[in-house]
Amino acid sequence: MPMGFLSIIESKEIYSFMLNDEQWNRLKDKYKNLSIHMPCCETRAIPKKSKLGTQYFAHHPSSTCSVHTGESREHQFCKYLILKYLHENGWTVTPEYRGQTPSGETWIADIYAEKDKAKIAIEIQWSPQSIEETKRRQEKYIASGIRTVWFMRTTPKNKWDVLDYQSYELPVFSIWLNREHHQLITSGAFYNWDESDLVEIEFINFVKALMSGNVQYSLKPNAARSLQFAMNTIQCWKCKKPTNTIMEVNYFIPHANGFTKIYRLDIEDLSHEHIDILNHPKLITSYQYGPIKKRFSKTRGEAYLSNGCIHCDALQGAFFARHEYDPQNMKYSHFIEVKIDPDSKIDGLWFYQE
Ligand SMILES: [Zn+2]
Ligand SMILES: [Zn+2]
Repeated sequence: MPMGFLSIIESKEIYSFMLNDEQWNRLKDKYKNLSIHMPCCETRAIPKKSKLGTQYFAHHPSSTCSVHTGESREHQFCKYLILKYLHENGWTVTPEYRGQTPSGETWIADIYAEKDKAKIAIEIQWSPQSIEETKRRQEKYIASGIRTVWFMRTTPKNKWDVLDYQSYELPVFSIWLNREHHQLITSGAFYNWDESDLVEIEFINFVKALMSGNVQYSLKPNAARSLQFAMNTIQCWKCKKPTNTIMEVNYFIPHANGFTKIYRLDIEDLSHEHIDILNHPKLITSYQYGPIKKRFSKTRGEAYLSNGCIHCDALQGAFFARHEYDPQNMKYSHFIEVKIDPDSKIDGLWFYQE
């Protein structure tokens, strides 16, 4: 039997997600005395609550309505959680919203919401959809000026699949139902670079974080990022004096609760702009390392971006550095605010900030 979020109560359009628990219970008590019907066919509507917790309107059993959404209870539950959350946070929300691109192509969004000048859509893809189709639909949203996020149904095992095609322009995450706990779980983002596994977060908590800007793309255009370099003190092979060498350069997203690590680079992979930052005399003086520059290596038979001795500028080779790498005695610089330039060899990934 088709079900929905909308009913007409005493000539007014009422969405189920707009009513809180108490209001919903009150409606269930008194709906028999009200004029209440489904928007599709004017059959009497019955307010119900699913096992998962979705508040919805069902057709009276006598109905012969043929309007079918073809959506599963899980799919409805996902949409319900988002609609409710956005409504409670001041968004004007519409499920199954029909819109158009400037060139006249139509689209229908699972969930469409507006607040001030922001326009967003959220798509829950419970049935399989090809990557090409997802990209094609996303193009329409981009052309219409709507920021759209996708949740693709997967299994816990396949939660990695979305990484193959997610980007800043295509925020796509995975979702599945944990039947044991009646819980929707979302993945497709990392806690930080050092973590080898993806997050597994309760769906609505992930949505809340996303809407608060706490799920971020590492290469978000023009976003402020932080750079921190890590050094070991070694003895220069040539002049025998102590010098610091930069062993790794780490990148972070700065946020209210701290810094989320998003990447690690060797100095050889740094962008020109970031090498210039590291070669600032003030930094060199306070952290006591030689400038990062190309030095000729007999071992490699070529010049490469390298550490040098702060006293005699002798190349402190990459092989040597790997040998000397000492995490126990690593010294860290302060966080330096940077922009990530296209020259950087940093991967685009989504990060969830706790
Ligand atoms: Zn109907
Ligand atoms: Zn030296």
